[in-house]
Amino acid sequence: MPDPAIVWFRRDLRLTDLPALLAARDRSTRALAVFVLDDALLRPAGSPRIAFLAGCLRALDADLGGRLLLLHGDPVEVIPQLAHSINADSVHVSADFGPYGTQRDDAVQASLAAAGVPLIRTGSPYAVTPGRISTKAGTPYKVFTSYRRGWLDHGWRSPAATTADSLAWLDPAELPPLAGALRCSALGALPGIGDERDGPALPPPGEAAALRRWRTFRDERLTGYDTHRDRPDRDATTRLSPHLKFGCIHPRTVLHDLRESPSSAASVLRSELAWRDFYADVLFHRPDTARRNYNPRFDAMRYDAGPDAEAAFDSWREGRTGYPIVDAGMRQLLGEGWMHNRVRMITASFLTKDLHLPWWRGARHFMKHLVDGDLASNQHGWQWTAGCGTDAAPYFRVFNPVTQGERFDPDGDYVRRWVPELRHIDGKAVHRPWARGAAAPLFSVNGPVSADMPVSVGTPGYADTSAYPSPIVDHAEERVVALARFGEIR
Ligand SMILES: Cc1cc2nc3c(=O)[nH]c(=O)nc-3n(C[C@H](O)[C@H](O)[C@H](O)COP(=O)(O)OP(=O)(O)OC[C@H]3O[C@@H](n4cnc5c(N)ncnc54)[C@H](O)[C@@H]3O)c2cc1C
Repeated sequence: MPDPAIVWFRRDLRLTDLPALLAARDRSTRALAVFVLDDALLRPAGSPRIAFLAGCLRALDADLGGRLLLLHGDPVEVIPQLAHSINADSVHVSADFGPYGTQRDDAVQASLAAAGVPLIRTGSPYAVTPGRISTKAGTPYKVFTSYRRGWLDHGWRSPAATTADSLAWLDPAELPPLAGALRCSALGALPGIGDERDGPALPPPGEAAALRRWRTFRDERLTGYDTHRDRPDRDATTRLSPHLKFGCIHPRTVLHDLRESPSSAASVLRSELAWRDFYADVLFHRPDTARRNYNPRFDAMRYDAGPDAEAAFDSWREGRTGYPIVDAGMRQLLGEGWMHNRVRMITASFLTKDLHLPWWRGARHFMKHLVDGDLASNQHGWQWTAGCGTDAAPYFRVFNPVTQGERFDPDGDYVRRWVPELRHIDGKAVHRPWARGAAAPLFSVNGPVSADMPVSVGTPGYADTSAYPSPIVDHAEERVVALARFGEIR
């Protein structure tokens, strides 16, 4: 009988359309399925993402007939130990292109190689692998629109024909005892993983749930995606991001289903998936941008600091800025572990341009709470909004949280869903609670203000909304400050 292969699952928690299974089958008919609980990755993730991951692992284990082995430890140690203990022929993975994953895999590969076992990387979590395409000059793309052209020209493979039956899976119960080994049934006992009851309501985890979500969206809501995807008050986007994050579905599966469709909705969805690949490509070429400004001019940017800045940061995190769309988004993040894309941009703009705080503080908060928290998409989504990233919005574009709310949540339903203090305000007036009932101009301490301008606590306009905070800053004033600071570094 040939020595067994090891299939080491990471961000590919599925069995269909998984090229690594084909590569494993080329070398052996039998395989051991393993996932490593690596503290280096678990530590920065908040409990919603870990709970979702645990759910995906349980689903994968069930699909494997209860044959998923979990190892708790450093992959650089536990994978070579496992390979040694079962006399493995080879170890198979989908390649990882993130800064940590690349280094980890290189170290595992070197350690396995010393024992004569190859680490075989097949496929990746992306439609077009990071680093695969470049500009005509051979340089990495810096602008999304040109990247998307190259990405479409390059194209992607058809889904790989794999299932749970592609390999005969070894039963971990029959293996010799291994340090750090556990079964999915014991996951709940691990600190930080077990108790998901008090956390946000999470989407159903696992491959079957991801495929169901995608097919329902494709059949019932794809038409209209292009026109409604910017509306946080509607369920108008795929909500596939947590599933894509953990590879419960591969983007290639989605793109394959869209292949025949000339519709504008299909084309816009393809573009969104291209953004995901683009940011992975950018991070692959510039791993430093996980922490540092893509545009180094921004290293000289002046940020606010001190007790007032900290208080403002807390108000932003808690959804108590007094700007309804910002607060709704920040509360959706805490309530669901997810936030609508338009509102991610509005809240990120507010932190960086109205509160003058560094993007990485907001990015860290997002990474902690997002179930779909993904280093490339998150850090570069933040950098784009802050103006220091690739293909950035022009520096003078500062999102106005009031007009953005009125435009993209035109009936105010999204705000009322997440900000109960404002539920008694009908329609889009909810985006300007300070203007309520103001037949005559409101007055702040500094004189007359317009309905555009927030007023301070205790003004008559707040009589009906006293539980809701007044705006912590005046957007019009902070916009001027933001532009002045951009001017200093241009
Ligand atoms: C500040 C900020 C932080 C973000 N952080 C993350 C993150 O941590 N993880 C994450 O997956 N996305 C992130 N995004 C991108 C985007 O907001 C989410 O992918 C999207 O809201 C997920 O919802 P959906 O699956 O319904 O999207 P859909 O509109 O249905 O799009 C389908 C898929 O395309 C991809 N996609 C869509 N928009 C983008 C985008 N702007 N950038 C990259 N990929 C995109 C996602 O994989 C998404 O699931 C961030 C955006 C911003 C502005």
